[in-house]
Amino acid sequence: MVETSKIAYLLERLAQGVAAHDRENPDHHTWGVGMSGFDIERLGLEEGEQILPGIVLQNDGGVTGAFRVLCDGDHDAALEESEEEVIDAVGSEELAEPVSAPGYEPGPRVKPPF
Ligand SMILES: [Zn+2]
Repeated sequence: MVETSKIAYLLERLAQGVAAHDRENPDHHTWGVGMSGFDIERLGLEEGEQILPGIVLQNDGGVTGAFRVLCDGDHDAALEESEEEVIDAVGSEELAEPVSAPGYEPGPRVKPPF
């Protein structure tokens, strides 16, 4: 279960990434955002959903922890790299969540051999 605040954060980052892309490449037509299927699932998103106005989420089979602006033009590699770090932040926040194990009992203590 992903908290709503994280999705809001993600959407903000996606919107910023798309806006930055469109600013750098005003002649490109942006139609989607690509993520790995693993990220789409762990974020509780749906492939093919309109994640931002006019922007459709696609499973592009790319690396996890990153998203790609999908457009009809050639991409600026530097821009793509800066976008990748953005979702890394979301990913590590998730990994940093404490794992609770109710009723967990520590195993038998390992005794030194004497
Ligand atoms: Zn582009």
